[in-house]
Amino acid sequence: MKNAPYSVEERFVRYAQVDTTADPVSMSFPSSEKQKNLSAILVDELKAIGVSDAEKDQWGYVYATIPANVSHDVPTICFCSHIDTAPDCSGTDVKPIVHRNYTGHPIVLPDDPTQVITVEQHPYLKEKIGDDLITASGTTLLGADDKAGVAIIMDLATQLMRNPEIPHGKIRILFTPDEEVGRGVEQLDMQKLNADFGYTLDSGELGAIEDESFSADAMTFQISGVSAHPGYAKGKMVHAIKVAASFVDSLPKDNWCPEATQGREGFVHPTSISGGLEEATVSFIIRDHDTSKLAEYETRLENYMKETISQFPGASYSCKVQAQYRNMKEIIRDVPFVTDYAIRAMEKAGITPRPTIIRGGTDGSRMSFMGLPCPNIFTGEMAIHSRHEYVSVQDMQKAVDTLIELVQIWTKHK
Ligand SMILES: [Zn+2]
Repeated sequence: MKNAPYSVEERFVRYAQVDTTADPVSMSFPSSEKQKNLSAILVDELKAIGVSDAEKDQWGYVYATIPANVSHDVPTICFCSHIDTAPDCSGTDVKPIVHRNYTGHPIVLPDDPTQVITVEQHPYLKEKIGDDLITASGTTLLGADDKAGVAIIMDLATQLMRNPEIPHGKIRILFTPDEEVGRGVEQLDMQKLNADFGYTLDSGELGAIEDESFSADAMTFQISGVSAHPGYAKGKMVHAIKVAASFVDSLPKDNWCPEATQGREGFVHPTSISGGLEEATVSFIIRDHDTSKLAEYETRLENYMKETISQFPGASYSCKVQAQYRNMKEIIRDVPFVTDYAIRAMEKAGITPRPTIIRGGTDGSRMSFMGLPCPNIFTGEMAIHSRHEYVSVQDMQKAVDTLIELVQIWTKHK
């Protein structure tokens, strides 16, 4: 596929300029209407290359089919990316810049020269010397997370429509809104999608393949103090804010927290603290790759609260746990070939696979538990959710190559 006329760079640059920032406080779906602008563009472009059933539903999801061109039974494979970008950094007026033949020198972003991308900060860049890199201009994120994935899937569709000699089964294309605010599958219609196995295109480094995510719960503590007039509070007042502060301060600082863990180490992490004299709330996220550890962590966290509350006579607390998502490996373990085929496809495309574990979740974690085992494949997106975000054009092209090999491997599935 070396000389294939890739469309991935041109597509990426165009999609990156469409503002699709998700809104974390919105209750509507999608969280921001503007995400649908990209959905509409993608549907038009799919139709233009001959994917005739491409449609955008009322929620902004895009569904499309590339029909099988082999006569025997092959599982239906879904390729999925999210159209929204992270609200952590502005996604308005993104100006993508293509840096041809990257030399390894610092890249100064023109619209804010204090933003400098260096190999010291981003060691992966050492592997990208000679590549064409795309960055934003300094005041926004780039949105390679996950418009790189979108552009890769659109290029795949173009390649397959133009080259009918590449054998493949039925392929379902899915673009989702609101992944970045954890709601990517909220209105997803799995029946309509009707695929057997899937892959999200939303990982970073060349060769990355991830089929293991965190398992995730949320835990909320509600603290009740005793209110009194501050002038006449002696011996009466019990301050809920002080209980909350003391509780958070009692937690380990050099382990069991995001700042001090990596690899397979889990953590608990306060995400918000609010309140006043009488009532305070502390919210946590609980994470580990081993689902059975979550309950252990929740008991341990509650023990810290018990210890704290015992030092504040008159105060009380209640807590509740909410399940968020589970490690997709629990599902993919039973169908290991889904990951193995992706690894084999990379090898066929001349890429060294880098199996990794996700210290987070993806749409794929949730879709795996909704019946669609769904590992995550690299796109080249790096330094995501930041003004330093970048992507290598060649990494995106190699992802297209991988998918072209992958659809062919699936035609031999027994
Ligand atoms: Zn993403």
